Formats: sequence, C-alpha cells, structure tokens
Amino acid sequence: RTAVVLFTRDLRLHDNPALAAACANAERVVPLFVFDPVLAGRSPNRDRFLHQCVADLRALLRDRDSDLVVRQGDPVAETIRLAGEVGAEGVAAAADVSAYARRRERRLLAEGERHELSVRFFPGLTIVDPGVLKPGGGDHYRVFSPYHRAWLAAKWREPVALPKKVPLPSGVAVGRLPAEPAGESPDAARGGETEARQRLRGWIGEVEHYDDGHNDLAGDRTSRLSPYLRFGALSPLEVAHAALGKPAHDPFVRQLCWRDFYYQVAYAFPEIGRKAYRRGATEGWQDDDAGFRRWAEGRTGVPIVDAGMHQLRREGWMHNRARLVTASYLTKDLGIDWRRGQNEFYRWLIDGDLPNNSGNWQWVAGTGNDTRPYRKFNPERQRERYDPDGSYVERYA
Ligand code: FAD
Repeated sequence: RTAVVLFTRDLRLHDNPALAAACANAERVVPLFVFDPVLAGRSPNRDRFLHQCVADLRALLRDRDSDLVVRQGDPVAETIRLAGEVGAEGVAAAADVSAYARRRERRLLAEGERHELSVRFFPGLTIVDPGVLKPGGGDHYRVFSPYHRAWLAAKWREPVALPKKVPLPSGVAVGRLPAEPAGESPDAARGGETEARQRLRGWIGEVEHYDDGHNDLAGDRTSRLSPYLRFGALSPLEVAHAALGKPAHDPFVRQLCWRDFYYQVAYAFPEIGRKAYRRGATEGWQDDDAGFRRWAEGRTGVPIVDAGMHQLRREGWMHNRARLVTASYLTKDLGIDWRRGQNEFYRWLIDGDLPNNSGNWQWVAGTGNDTRPYRKFNPERQRERYDPDGSYVERYA
C-alpha cells in the first residue's frame, strides 16, 4: 500500500499525526508539499519563512532516506495527480480551520472519492481540536476564562512518536525547490523544524520566569515560538508538554490556550477577519489615510508606538505588549478601523495568521471577545511600566 502525505502548515516530522498514521499503515509513503499561488504574495516575510520550513522539512526527510515532493499549483489537483503517478490508495493531511483550508479539504475529499482514494484528515493544529469543547447551548466558547477551564479539564490527545522510517517508493520525481523569496525584514527569524526545536530547547528552561518577564519589552523574555507554531514546525501539544514538566508553567501554557481559543472562535466564525465578532459592537471609524501611514511607518511621535512598528518592520515580529499598545493606539486613539491595522500586521508578521491576528485585533478594538470593549491602553503609562529605562524605545528608534 502507498499513501501520499500532503503537508500544509504542519511542516514537521515530530508529533505529526498525519505522517505517523501514513507511516504506520502504508508500506510506501510519499511526502508532498504544494506551493499554492493563491496563498503566495500576501506577505513576503511569511513566503520566505515558509520556504525555509519546506527546505528544512526536505532535508530532514532526506536524512531518513526519504524526500519531499515539491510541486506548485492547486494542492488538490497536484495531490490527486501525484497519487495517480505513484499508485497511492490513500492521502493523509492535517485538518485546518480557515474557510479556504476547509474548502480545500472538502474538494480533496470529493476528488478522492472520484478517484477511489481514501482521504483522511488528522488533528495537530491545536492542542484541543476546534469544535470539541462547547458550552451548554453554544457551538463554541465566546469568553476565554470558561474556555480555559474546560480546556485544562479536557482530555488531550497523546503526542505521536517520530516515525522511524518514511519509506519512499523508488523513481518518484521529487521536483526542485523554487528559489528562496527575499522577504522584507532584515532581522526576521529563520524558519524550519530544526531551528524551532533548537529554540524550544533553549527557551524551555526559562518557562518558570515567564510570569515575571513576559511583559518586559526590552527584556524580550517570551518564547518567540509563534512563527514556528504558525507553520507547524512545532506541535503546540509538544510545546505544552515540554512546559508542563517545568515549575510555574501555568502562565505560559495559558497563552497556548489563547491560541486554541481563537482557533475555535475562527472555526465557528470564519468571517473573523472581516466582520465584528461581537453582536451589537459599534463601529464608526475615521477615514484618516495620513494618520494610518504615520502609524504604519512608525512616525506618530509616540515613542512606544513607533518603536513597536519599527520592530515589526525590522524583525517581522513584535512583542505582545507592543502589539497591544500599537493596536490600541490605532483603533482607540486615532479611531482607525481595526481591519486596516490587521492587514498591515498581516503583511509583516512571520507568525501572522487569521485566528490570532484577527482575534487579537478585534479584542483590542472592542469588537471581539473582550468583556471590556472600552479598555484603552495609555501609551505613556505603558512605556513607564513596561519599558521603564527606555531600552526598548532606544533599540527600535
Ligand atoms: P509567548 O508569550 O512565548 O507565548 C507562547 C505562544 O502562545 C505564542 O507563540 C502564541 O502561539 C501563543 N499566544 C501568546 N499570546 C497569545 C495571544 N494573545 N493570542 C493567541 N495566541 C497567543 N499571535 C500570532 O501567533 N499570530 C498573529 O498574527 C498575532 N497577531 C496579534 C495581533 C495583535 C494586535 C495582538 C495584540 C496580538 C497578536 N498575537 C498574534 C498574539 C501574541 O502577540 C503573539 O502570539 C506573541 O507575541 C508571540 O510571541 P511569543 O511566541 O514569544 O509568545
């Protein structure tokens, strides 16, 4: 039996349920990644990061005497075509939440049926699958705290073992990797599971200091694992398990729960990037192009806001505290539509993804899941508290 494993945003070998199931159930396994032109070009930084993840995945598979078939085009058509070429009976892939990904899944199921291929989707994108936890009478949790309680009490799946072998059939044309895209941020982190695991190992000893340090802007004491989680170069379940073994892990594991929370929101409310989530949210935004440009380019004259926006452009990443302050400044001080801010972040962030980006923007703008929609961050007070000696502002001047 032969199976194709379609990698999408689960670009790892460790704790990858789709890959593990294929390796357990088939004699021959053909790993595939398809560069989808529909998704390319939205963010040069993420295009580069993705490319680095794919290149690393190919190298890791080659270390196991396997390889990664790389194609370009429509992932569904390319998967069906490859399955025909290698005589596969089955296709395994990870389930995803966005409307686009879910359409792709439905199309793959339908095409699989037409070609007598068994197509299966596997968990692994989040710790608890979206849609599993439901409050009485609802299809998803709208407020974080009860979700967090249910999430901690839920039965998590067991991480799957790293497959010993990924037995590739002979004679498969693997295809060339396209050239690495340029990206826009000179100091962006490098993609790939190898880099991700090194970073996790280096950081996990710091978990116990997370509660004290995570808001310290200049101290930069958060994990910076978000882009690796975004592309599945790390399994969120594995990150949680690594943290659970350490003292004082709660505040960090809680952040991983926020990620799961927004994924289950986006799963139930796919318009999260376009429409206000909260029923009855008032939206009246200023048409202020010049103000928006000053914000985006870090020229507002408010030091902590400008520093945050400079960090975003330089690194393709921004500290969470700065994300809160810059987003609050755009929506609450300048009164500019959160969708414009969301799109600007989405262009630059290497961890930029729909559920977390839109969910957090709506939270700050007061249109989302926050139970205090009129909350506003005073940039001066935030600077005094979280950058008291001005090192962050100076670093990103
Ligand atoms: P750590 O503090 O080390 O946290 C560990 C992990 O928990 C993160 O990697 C992330 O996966 C998750 N996490 C932490 N905070 C949050 C949160 N508030 N919401 C959801 N998940 C969280 N995060 C993204 O991954 N992608 C985005 O596009 C994104 N856009 C944001 C936009 C705004 C306006 C705001 C306020 C926050 C946004 N966040 C986003 C959430 C958060 O800022 C980042 O996840 C975090 O800064 C990443 O750094 P880290 O890996 O060092 O986080």
